[in-house]
Amino acid sequence: MHLEPNVMRLAVPSKGRLQEPAESLIKAAGIKYRRRDRSLFAHATSLDLAILFVRPDDIPVLVAEGAADLGIVGQDLVHEHGCEKRVEKLLDLDFGHCRLCVAAPDRSRIKKVKDLAGKKLVCSMLQSARSFFKKHKVRVDLVEVSGSVEVMVALGLADAIVDLVESGDTLRDNGLSVIETISHSQAVLIGSKQPRDAALSGLVQRRLKGVLTAQQYTLLEYNIPRARLKDAEKIAPGFESPTVSDLEDLKWCAVKVMIPKKKSVEIIDQLEALGASAILETQILNCRL
Ligand code: AMP
Repeated sequence: MHLEPNVMRLAVPSKGRLQEPAESLIKAAGIKYRRRDRSLFAHATSLDLAILFVRPDDIPVLVAEGAADLGIVGQDLVHEHGCEKRVEKLLDLDFGHCRLCVAAPDRSRIKKVKDLAGKKLVCSMLQSARSFFKKHKVRVDLVEVSGSVEVMVALGLADAIVDLVESGDTLRDNGLSVIETISHSQAVLIGSKQPRDAALSGLVQRRLKGVLTAQQYTLLEYNIPRARLKDAEKIAPGFESPTVSDLEDLKWCAVKVMIPKKKSVEIIDQLEALGASAILETQILNCRL
């Protein structure tokens, strides 16, 4: 299969924990493709766009150098590879949430960053760890390892670690506690400063944003006495303003509003307490706002 030089390129992780959610997101945005036998790229079926399947570590540099126009990658890797100023951060994608942390054994005397002076640490993000300790003026011996950073203390290889943490369960299972959070990360869409096709880049961004908004919001419909509409709008203000229509009984109105999915139950409770009735919540599959 041939990669046309002028065709827009979207780089997605070919492996790792961001692979599956990245592929689901682009498919939900109507970017469909048929990938042949683990090939390195595929052409989208309904857009003039090539999807590149590459190692997550390579994505920031590929986009910074313009070999790819768009990329889906952890924000932490963009920072680790020193690409933050060389790419545009276009969208937060709301998956792959994690934080880069310094952690030490629960029972050790290491309770804060200064206690690490002269100690040996294993880490998964060497450059990010190095600049953190430089900023804090604490001299440490940093050794980069790939995978299973948490077990290195138990194996006697290090006094503490710097690693990506999601829930903290793995740290706890290994008798470690976070003593400092270096940075927070999530998956992001990044773009090259000079995309091959700026219009198509914009379309892909709007499609992804539409899917993300639809995932984060639901649509709420309810009836409310007009006299209480202002209070109801304070509880659920919507994106710009709710859509309000008259009911046959003009003392009442019908309201349609988008609300954050995570808060929907509390919002419904509050609207009910205010006197709303016929409250219906429905899923949004896609949207453009
Ligand atoms: P991979 O190492 O390819 O599985 O992907 C790692 C990426 O997933 C990182 O660059 C982070 O952006 C993200 N991530 C989210 N949670 C974690 C975690 N607990 N450990 C490692 N990476 C995580």
